[in-house]
Amino acid sequence: MFGPKTHCVVVVGAQWGDEGKGKVVDVLAERADLVVRYQGGANAGHTVHTAAGEFVLHQIPSGILQGAVCLVGNGVVLDPETFFTELDALAAQGIKTDHKIFVSDRAHLTLPFHKLLDRAREKRERIGTTGRGIGPTYEDKYGRRGLRVGDLGNLARARELVAARVASTNEILALLGSPDRADAGEHRAMLDRLAPRLLPLAVDAGRVVYEALERGEAILLEGAQGALLDVDHGTYPYVTSSNTTAGGAAVGVGIGPTAIDAVLGVVKAYTTRVGNGPLPTEAEPAVATRIRDLGGEFGATTGRPRRCGWFDAVVVRYAVRVNGLTGLAVTKLDVLDTFAEIPVGVGYRLDGEQVDSMPADVERIDRVEPIYETLPGWQKSLADVRRLADLPPAARAYLDRLQDLARAPIRYVSVGTHRDQIIEVS
Ligand code: GDP
Repeated sequence: MFGPKTHCVVVVGAQWGDEGKGKVVDVLAERADLVVRYQGGANAGHTVHTAAGEFVLHQIPSGILQGAVCLVGNGVVLDPETFFTELDALAAQGIKTDHKIFVSDRAHLTLPFHKLLDRAREKRERIGTTGRGIGPTYEDKYGRRGLRVGDLGNLARARELVAARVASTNEILALLGSPDRADAGEHRAMLDRLAPRLLPLAVDAGRVVYEALERGEAILLEGAQGALLDVDHGTYPYVTSSNTTAGGAAVGVGIGPTAIDAVLGVVKAYTTRVGNGPLPTEAEPAVATRIRDLGGEFGATTGRPRRCGWFDAVVVRYAVRVNGLTGLAVTKLDVLDTFAEIPVGVGYRLDGEQVDSMPADVERIDRVEPIYETLPGWQKSLADVRRLADLPPAARAYLDRLQDLARAPIRYVSVGTHRDQIIEVS
């Protein structure tokens, strides 16, 4: 990906998240000097398998495993408890973290009261959130009443702000009929504990990235979730609270869009989604269970079973457009090894008419009927394939069809959980 004219690469999920971005980022991070997260919070979970073991990271960019310098951008909402738990776990597993991880002084903090609010609301609204306080933290950010990392520099003011937020949260919890209450003392103690540990890691992240670009370094901007969960472009309201798409990378890091040279979209060779909301190519229960078991489709953060179905070209074509994808990384092709036939969603029908792009209205998306094309399976293990030329012809034909339908070139194909189980398409 990186080269003389490609210094700044964005990696995004091009479906509903969990596409295997963690592994792709891990592979690319080998060549990156700087890896930056730009949105989302502790609801994102990357699982990365390395020789040193399995790592599940929610807040820290997985580039840390490769020794890259990692940044948490201003567009991220930072859960300090998860962040430090992860940092300590990495250090305990022998990963060097000193001078390797920094946090934007403009990133907003997720505090315990946000989680209480999230859970109380989810009981009523059933969006399928992870209950980690992400939505309420973004609400406070846009409501201009949030607490940012840099605010810990003035502890008296931070305490005052948080005390007011705790009081108003408790009023809302009472209105929602929740028995939970946020504890002002617990929050105060948390701020006191956090400030001395977090402030030394705080930087002007946009400036750090800008200066690294000036030095000609390789920079990877890592998205969480996927395009169809983008707050603007996803299946609203069943979406996350941030801009997961590539435009969000510029804003969430603090650089201009012209600094971005390439955008790689990660897609599974099939489709999954966690939580509620439409999933047009969802497979019938027995097939969905088979895909789920073969692909280990259970949430890295919550353990929730994922809903599973076939590749949906309407979704990926849409993701290509709204992200400006310059390439695709297809993951988990090996999960389809044993299928004799593989359906691919090539379009939708709605009220008797053909629809070839994603409707905005969730009720309409719910009613679309996918149009399938069935391709032959390869029925062979792909685990040891490292070159495109060594793929069975049916697997090659499957990829060619996905590429044509998606209208973006495939740059990587992943055939297993391990770092070396990847085919680079030159
Ligand atoms: P992310 O948030 O997009 O990184 O998604 P997850 O963390 O949920 O990653 C997906 C899971 O799939 C992880 O357990 C990966 O190890 C695994 N995975 C990634 N690529 C492949 C692949 O090509 N084949 C198989 N079988 N598993 C993969």
